[in-house]
Amino acid sequence: MQPKPHIVDLPVYQPGKPIEEVQKEYGLDEVVKLASNENPYGFSPRVRDAIESELSKFYLYPDGASVELTAALAEHLSVQPDRIIFGCGSDEVIALIARAFLMEGDETIMADCTFSVYKSNADIEQAVSIEVPLKDGKHDLDAMLAAVSDRTKIVWICNPNNPTGTIVNRGELRSFLDRVPSSVMVVLDEAYFEYVTDSGYPDGLTLLADYPNVVVLRTFSKIYGLAALRIGYGVGSAEVIRSINQVREPFNTTRIAQAAAKAALADQSFVQSCREKNAEGIQYLEREFGRLGLESFPANGNFIMVDTRQSAADLFQRMLRKGVIARSGFKRYPTYLRVTVGSPRENEIFIRIFEETLSERGATV
Ligand SMILES: *Cc1c(COP(=O)(O)O)cnc(C)c1O
Repeated sequence: MQPKPHIVDLPVYQPGKPIEEVQKEYGLDEVVKLASNENPYGFSPRVRDAIESELSKFYLYPDGASVELTAALAEHLSVQPDRIIFGCGSDEVIALIARAFLMEGDETIMADCTFSVYKSNADIEQAVSIEVPLKDGKHDLDAMLAAVSDRTKIVWICNPNNPTGTIVNRGELRSFLDRVPSSVMVVLDEAYFEYVTDSGYPDGLTLLADYPNVVVLRTFSKIYGLAALRIGYGVGSAEVIRSINQVREPFNTTRIAQAAAKAALADQSFVQSCREKNAEGIQYLEREFGRLGLESFPANGNFIMVDTRQSAADLFQRMLRKGVIARSGFKRYPTYLRVTVGSPRENEIFIRIFEETLSERGATV
């Protein structure tokens, strides 16, 4: 059996090691995982009740159109319901956009480095990814604009950018959108939207009226704490959303995910409290990195990327043995570690182990 030739060399996504596995492998009592930007405060207590009321209904297919959740979200965001699409995580919405809009030989532009899912889906569709280096950890929108050709179909802007945590501000984004051809789709991935406290940060939804080529992606996996349930969404013009719906599987989100997302959305005080505690966590980690004489990129999500000035891959391994899981291995950033902002206690454990491990003799790059 022969798979399609263009998928033969695609890498299989390597997820971070689960806590249980690290615990067993190194014989540890406690493991602190700050590797996947999960919410250390879990999820709203309302979610549990919503899920419990679904338990007796597992034999029923979900509502394929997510009517109730769409209505609740449309009201929350003040957008028309026909401008919303849900996916099995916003990862699926990215895949569906690629499936609906990218053909062999099309070009698609993204930062280097950014969220890896844009490129992996472009590869699957045999599109050509043009990766534009970040400038000081930020999207270089001028260089991305200069990379636009008449074959360009989609530009991906991850705002805040994963892994660096930087944002493009309102003026920079508008100036970019003013100059990019309206035939080019601009996807604003706002997976960390709810965490951002910088007043210059643009809310992508406010741009939709002026720029119908914009699609905004958000998720219930991050601040809402529903990563395991796999539900995220896209907001765009009714035409674009219709095209994405045409390539969507009929039942791509589950009853539990829909009910949980609706309950989570209704508890904005949980969201606010997570945002505030996260901002305090960022302040703490930035202060500690400063004390250690290390530089980090301005953090706007629930993670922070720090230059360890030694091999981050090696440092990662040595911290893993002590029960702290962070993330290394970012293209062009071999000395940088990305750490999720945890609870105050997790952050303190991280800093203690980080400082201790840094001072051991590590490998240089
Ligand atoms: C986590 C993340 C997502 C998507 O997560 P889902 O769980 O698939 O909704 C999308 N974009 C970025 C930048 C992320 O970090």
